[in-house]
Amino acid sequence: MGVCAPMINYTEHLTRLMRDLVARVPGLGFIDPSDVLMFARFGRSEASGAFATCHCLTLPTSEPGYYFWRDRVTGRLTRRSQWFVTKSPEVRIGDQRIKYLVSFVLPRFCDQSLEYSRKREHYRGAEPWLAKLDTVVHELYHIDPDDSGLRKIERADGSYSPRSHGPAFYYDVANMVSMYLSTNPDPTMYDFLRHDFNALQKRFGGLLATTFRNFPSFPQRYIEATPDQQPEGADVAIEPLKAPSQPALYTEEDLLTRQFFAESARLPAVDRAA
Ligand SMILES: [Zn+2]
Repeated sequence: MGVCAPMINYTEHLTRLMRDLVARVPGLGFIDPSDVLMFARFGRSEASGAFATCHCLTLPTSEPGYYFWRDRVTGRLTRRSQWFVTKSPEVRIGDQRIKYLVSFVLPRFCDQSLEYSRKREHYRGAEPWLAKLDTVVHELYHIDPDDSGLRKIERADGSYSPRSHGPAFYYDVANMVSMYLSTNPDPTMYDFLRHDFNALQKRFGGLLATTFRNFPSFPQRYIEATPDQQPEGADVAIEPLKAPSQPALYTEEDLLTRQFFAESARLPAVDRAA
């Protein structure tokens, strides 16, 4: 019988790296790592799309509102939904209320390289895996130091956008990456980023990561019916809202470790050797 090396738990490695980044990079020093939970989503390496995303769980509940339908010709209100608010789900790990989730798209993230990246201009002559370290710092940099959601990003015209990145954002991130490396961190903190997915598979025999029980779903804003507020539309048909398809509260019971493959992610086979 061969000796089985333990599979690599990728989100555990990312979490350890986050703690080290926050401890060493002053620009990220305001982050309390216990406010942040790292989890994985599935995405093929060849498909285009995000490598990672920062999700904020502290956005306030929206003002009440409703959907409505109008007659195309007369413009008259014909139907409306029940009133509802949009809320962030709660994620609690033990006593800790999580404020931010950072999702990593696997195995795509593992195969990220500087080669075709718009980040390349900030990393001339650098090793390709730095693209991954850049992404980790990038997502953490989205956390707002004022604790009000996602960092507001100044557009060229001076207005703010939480969605787009001005050149200054990429520049700041690249600076924080080199600042981190200049502090001589323990290489075991980031060495796992040097390997692409195939190399990790060979080395560790498999890649595990934290996911939510309702994978491929994960905690996302949801709508909740509220009492009707106005007599308006009392004479039109009211469409009931669909029941929310996901929990309002997630706990550690909702976290499951899945194994990620090139084409899928699934629960690992239980080892019944005992
Ligand atoms: Zn971003």
